Amino acid sequence: MTREADLPCSDCGSDLIDRAVPAHELPLGSSVTGTVTVAVCPECGARHYPDETVRRLTDGPDRSLTGSP
Ligand SMILES: [Zn+2]
Repeated sequence: MTREADLPCSDCGSDLIDRAVPAHELPLGSSVTGTVTVAVCPECGARHYPDETVRRLTDGPDRSLTGSP
């Protein structure tokens, strides 16, 4: 199983670190509660979203990410 944190940063090549961050702090997760796992680059601060996290942010009961006001 490949995790984002096992891959180097696509921007600078540094090793990524798994971080649990509040979903509402993410641009995608404004309607999702709780925390999600994000792979963060300690060097340049880039965030990489694992598939599981993306799915959780986009498949939630509240789909207010795009469209209706
Ligand atoms: Zn980086």
